[in-house]
Amino acid sequence: MAEIVLDKVTKLFPDGAAAVSEVDITIADGEFIVLVGPSGCGKSTLLRGVAGLEQATGEVAWDGEDVSRLPTHRRGFALMFQDGQLFDHLTVARNVGYALRLRRAGRAEERRRVEELLALVGLDGYADRLPRTLSGGERQRVALARSLAHQPRLLLLDEPLSALDAGLRRRLASDLRHILVRSGSTAVMVTHDHEEAFTVADRLAVMRDGLLVQEGPIDAVWRSPVDAGTALFLGYARVLR
Ligand code: ADP
Ligand code: MG
Repeated sequence: MAEIVLDKVTKLFPDGAAAVSEVDITIADGEFIVLVGPSGCGKSTLLRGVAGLEQATGEVAWDGEDVSRLPTHRRGFALMFQDGQLFDHLTVARNVGYALRLRRAGRAEERRRVEELLALVGLDGYADRLPRTLSGGERQRVALARSLAHQPRLLLLDEPLSALDAGLRRRLASDLRHILVRSGSTAVMVTHDHEEAFTVADRLAVMRDGLLVQEGPIDAVWRSPVDAGTALFLGYARVLR
């Protein structure tokens, strides 16, 4: 089973403080985990450590193979950020097909895959548009299609919706879930917004102060938060003792 296992992933900063402290998570093939926690708790640092953009200690294994010493591009993971970082001078189709060209896929294959991916993210007919003619939500869909073109073993999404306005964000959150399920992707998405987390996740991982404080199926976490801090963060109005 091609699961991803994080084992004691830790990131210390030069002053010795732990931004991420001994995080263990197992992500099953095709599973969608949302990593949620307040701003500054270490979510981006953990994601960057898993991707290899940040040197972390501990182990990241894919299908039993330790990939934590491999450089980013050899891990087979894809990372998507808040601002999709599209190539502004390339059309939507050329943006989405970027990974396919790197892989030297033929023209016909590129065209076919790009069409499939644009359909998947709900952007049929957008192939020839330039990024600056798109809305924020459309741009993020293009960015998502471009990440999926890599067919990553693991897709890492760092607050992919947080630059959008509230209404669009909610809509795109549930679209995102459908797109990832339909594409069979294994993914970890980071957000500081617990409502967004509930909209998209199968499982929740809750972080605070660099620690993973709770992890499990979304209803289990919601029904019995591990402590008062977690309950309040998840949106409980108050905690009775
Ligand atoms: P989040 O994504 O959850 O908002 P981050 O992972 O960005 O949190 O940051 C976690 C903590 O690590 C923060 O307190 C941040 O200030 C600190 N931090 C991030 N990068 C560095 C760095 N290069 N050196 C020292 N501290 C850092
Ligand atoms: Mg962050």
